[in-house]
Amino acid sequence: MSQVNALSNSGIRVSFEFFPPKTEKMEENLWRSIERLAPMQPTFVSVTYGAGGSTRERTHHTISRILKETSLVPAAHLTCVDASREEVDDVVRQYRDTGVKHFVALRGDSQAGVGGKYVAREDGYRNAVELVAGLKAIDDFEISVAAYPEKHPESPDFATDIDLLKRKVDNGATRAITQFFFDNDVFERYVERARKAGIYIPIVPGIAPIHDFTKIARFAGATGASIPAWLAARFDGLDGDEQTHSHVSAAFCAEQVLDLTKRGISDFHFYTMNRADLVYSICHILGLRAALPKGKLEAAAAA
Ligand code: FAD
Repeated sequence: MSQVNALSNSGIRVSFEFFPPKTEKMEENLWRSIERLAPMQPTFVSVTYGAGGSTRERTHHTISRILKETSLVPAAHLTCVDASREEVDDVVRQYRDTGVKHFVALRGDSQAGVGGKYVAREDGYRNAVELVAGLKAIDDFEISVAAYPEKHPESPDFATDIDLLKRKVDNGATRAITQFFFDNDVFERYVERARKAGIYIPIVPGIAPIHDFTKIARFAGATGASIPAWLAARFDGLDGDEQTHSHVSAAFCAEQVLDLTKRGISDFHFYTMNRADLVYSICHILGLRAALPKGKLEAAAAA
């Protein structure tokens, strides 16, 4: 991965989210994706953390490998659900000792899954607001937090949701990354609400390339993200037609991010699902270019 800087005159910055692989084959696949996407020079690459610390070792392993084998900046997702403060703090210190400086601080979902009733532990951080404060008490980390353009499914209203985001910022969060969404007006309205509430940190859109429309539509329901009827219509009849599905996905995702750039957005966080194909295409459309490997560049200059 000895690439010189990716070239983008557009001022566009990207970050990529991966999940920790379960098997050797999945690990190979993840590393192929990381190698393909690394030349896009992401601001950071984040690795998710299973609810209740279920991926604790695997997330740590992936983050350590990124630190050792690449020049990428890793961000470790961390949840506080089903863990004591002490357990969470121990994990944080381990990460710090490995060289991690950036966390994505999350509450996480109850073991019953998304939508299950959340019960905070007496001896734990009750939510992401408290987790951010806990992280800051340990070190001056960079901290990203979650934001929900269509509000969190457990929130009674937008005001509660925005207030919670404000409290995360007051405790030291410096970036919000949103749940994925497909309607850019929804995102723009959310950012306006946040700015009116005095939240001035970057609110980075979470972009989910659609690898399988049926699956993402099912998952979207549980996360509170809506599927516009016009989007469903685009994928109508494409079950089993992988090639057309992939073309339609790339076209839609490009349309979505280009529209966001017209609305003044320059940072994008991609939910890669450990797959590089669609994300690489979108980055290319955004104007990001992998530079020639150093050797070739020097040879070109000498010619
Ligand atoms: P919080 O910000 O703590 O709160 C979420 C909601 O809980 C609020 O909107 C509110 O409705 C309610 N709430 C909490 N405290 C209060 C209070 N005091 N008063 C009133 N209401 C309250 N999950 C994982 O398990 N692992 C991951 O790696 C992961 N990565 C994610 C990355 C991103 C970018 C996003 C957007 C989500 C991610 N999630 C992950 C999902 C996340 O854990 C869930 O959405 C979870 O339900 C909420 O986490 P949070 O940090 O947003 O919670």
